[in-house]
Amino acid sequence: MEPARKKVAFHTLGCKLNFAETSTISRSFPEDQFEKVRPGSIADIHVINTCSVTGIADRKCRQVIKRCIKESPGSVIAVMGCYAQLNPGEISSIPGVDLVLGSNEKFDAVAFIERIEKKKTAEIHSNGLAATDLFHPSFSIGDRTRSFLKVQDGCDYRCSYCTIPVARGRSRNQDIPSLILEAEKIACRGIKEIVLTGVNIGDFGKSTGDSFASLLKELVRVEGIERYRISSIEPNLITDEIIGMAAECKKILPHFHIPLQSGSDKVLRLMKRRYRTDQFGERINLIRKYLPMAGIGADVIVGFPGETDNDFEDTMSFLKEIPLSYLHVFNFSERPGTAAEKMAGKVPFSTRESRSRKLIELSEIKHLAFLEQNLNRSDEILFEHTRTDGLITGFTGNYIRAEYPWKSSLAGTIKTGRLTGISGTGRMTVELID
Ligand code: SF4
Repeated sequence: MEPARKKVAFHTLGCKLNFAETSTISRSFPEDQFEKVRPGSIADIHVINTCSVTGIADRKCRQVIKRCIKESPGSVIAVMGCYAQLNPGEISSIPGVDLVLGSNEKFDAVAFIERIEKKKTAEIHSNGLAATDLFHPSFSIGDRTRSFLKVQDGCDYRCSYCTIPVARGRSRNQDIPSLILEAEKIACRGIKEIVLTGVNIGDFGKSTGDSFASLLKELVRVEGIERYRISSIEPNLITDEIIGMAAECKKILPHFHIPLQSGSDKVLRLMKRRYRTDQFGERINLIRKYLPMAGIGADVIVGFPGETDNDFEDTMSFLKEIPLSYLHVFNFSERPGTAAEKMAGKVPFSTRESRSRKLIELSEIKHLAFLEQNLNRSDEILFEHTRTDGLITGFTGNYIRAEYPWKSSLAGTIKTGRLTGISGTGRMTVELID
């Protein structure tokens, strides 16, 4: 009598890179031994891929871990990802956790889980990361509409507030021919859009001598993949060549998400960022020159130690000036072991809150203006598989979510449509042309 398959649930917190890696790790669990169930289900095994970019991220991870332990008593709890790499002791001290895997070991999760026994204390498997050259290929096959393809890992930058280089090691990447094979595997599954992801993807080529532009040149030749979206790229790594390629090649979507972090040069210096506001502004204006309707988003951190009211005013006026489409706003979060954690000039939480509210308001104004600019413009929409309030939605090339009355046959297809109006949800209504 075949032993019953074990129910395993995979939980992912954090970035697109984590989703690509969880999806790849879940595919290493043999189907004849394991039955994959949705996160939140009762399961025999819970695999939790964590994030540690902020204190809030840590707290959310602990909540998911404790919920799994409570809802599936006696189950095996395996925790991996950046939080597990950075702080294995904190996680292993949560009663009920069985396994804590480091950034390299997580890819052997199935082997560790097959031989784990419930014990009073958790097993920690996390060897030194700093020196690793190991690159674990990964791509997500989850929502069938787009796939997150990991092209790069780690980071050689040392921004003063960031722990990611410690969590993920130095910048490295897969070679281009292997990445083309990955993209072909994704195309075989009928997926039309690939989101290129990593930690510092503009730094692609560090371990192989290639460049991000040379990767794009090869990827656009892959049959079946119609769209490539660049998940996020450092301002100092957006080259004229990359902008030129996005302007000339239809497959490279006119959507850039660029971490600015502050509109004050004084604060950028404290953050140890590798550019100043004039360089950032120059890149945005160059994108706008060649791609006037591009969707351009920026990350901004408020409340960094030493950020005065005047510095924040500099950030506000800089952001009002540059032609962005939306902002992602983050409150500064002290990360253990970072230079910023020890910096003087701490900004009270209430001030961080009020500054982020102001930037979120500005983002809403900018996003509405961007949608108005796109009224009556035609674009290609990749419709998703989820039905929301009787509607089917999907993203345009320049990252506007468009909505249309639900029609299952549209799911996973790319259709040309004219953007006819702005609905109350911050989406745009569309009239299909083809
Ligand atoms: S570029 Fe800076 S913020 Fe981004 S991962 Fe590297 S060190 Fe962190």
